[in-house]
Amino acid sequence: MLRDELNNEEILEIARKIIREGPICNHCLGRQFAKISSGVSNELRGKILKELLADSGEVLETGKCWLCNGLFTDLDRWVEAALKKLDRYEYDSFLVGTKVSGLLMENEDLMWELTGAVFAEPLKAELNREVGKRIERATGKRVDFEKPDIVVILNLWRDEIELNVKPVFIYGRYLKYKRGIPQTRWYCRECRGRGCARCNFTGKMYAESVEELIKTSIIDEFGADDMILHGSGREDIDARMLGSGRPFVVELKEPSRRHVDLQALEDKINADNNGKLAVTALRYVDRDMVARIKNAKARKTYRVVVELRRAVKEEALMDAVTKLNGAMIEQRTPLRVVHRRADLVRRRRIYELNLVGYSGSTCELEVKCDGGLYVKELISGDGGRTSPSLSGLLGVEAEVKELDVIDVEL
Ligand SMILES: [Zn+2]
Ligand SMILES: [Zn+2]
Repeated sequence: MLRDELNNEEILEIARKIIREGPICNHCLGRQFAKISSGVSNELRGKILKELLADSGEVLETGKCWLCNGLFTDLDRWVEAALKKLDRYEYDSFLVGTKVSGLLMENEDLMWELTGAVFAEPLKAELNREVGKRIERATGKRVDFEKPDIVVILNLWRDEIELNVKPVFIYGRYLKYKRGIPQTRWYCRECRGRGCARCNFTGKMYAESVEELIKTSIIDEFGADDMILHGSGREDIDARMLGSGRPFVVELKEPSRRHVDLQALEDKINADNNGKLAVTALRYVDRDMVARIKNAKARKTYRVVVELRRAVKEEALMDAVTKLNGAMIEQRTPLRVVHRRADLVRRRRIYELNLVGYSGSTCELEVKCDGGLYVKELISGDGGRTSPSLSGLLGVEAEVKELDVIDVEL
């Protein structure tokens, strides 16, 4: 049937032009007629065309193919190189891509000028498919066009295989029991990470961070090159993170394993950081979870210990608490962060404010509010930049002594 379809004077005329240019392999000849009859390989198309041309008295040259320069007769070399590189990775799916060299692109242009490229498929497409099929056969893994775990790139320019390994993403929540730990590493302000006397040559403002504390265990388990922590917002460095914890996603770069027991990993991280930090609810997610947790305007609940410049009566305090309960707060970017954030006015709501402790000049509050409300300034008023504020309503200077995040709704 295929033979009948190809045995057509228009097709044979084109094929004749091609073989008169020089020796050509079955793949490259057949590929120029790929749109004729689906479900068969280009190699078979090429073989049949050569038989038909030989029958018609055409003399076929042998030798290295003038288009692919022998690439298609040497596919196993590429497959072996790919398998060797893939060997250290765990993956379920892959996809093959090709960076075609300049020489092959020129040859293909010549070919298409000659034939008009009416029935042709690009060289790249056949190469990707043929190498993909062979890797599938050798490994039992499957080609996935949508979300492959690994993209195998045949770099014909550099004559080597490159791998593009999809990161692993893990969602979780962290609890921070100790104050003074930032979420991610802060470079030293003096030396910007190079190391100086101020940072004791660590290059960092703080000795450790949530990211660094969990990184070693995770990187080891996944055999990854690097790990990035994406937090759903961040608490102040001096605030603890308690209650249900703060959602985060870690992104693991170049993982060589992707089927790790997350419960065991969780246990290991928590044992390594006993009393300082814990993670919970680890699970595998897709990349889009990063944007989801970063953009989520999650409501937060804080516990705040407040120190007042002078003692106030409990009724006055209760009155201020009542006024703030449910209030919309107008907050201009706090002075302490205005050097790194746009200076603008934000409106954030307080959903619930409860007085949980009181002793004249100190009090303890629980505040449930919109994400992005600066709680320290809600208490101090930040020189009138936050309004209303506890200090403003009481007419007394007020300052946060202790701050804990006890819930992040997400
Ligand atoms: Zn060829
Ligand atoms: Zn430094």
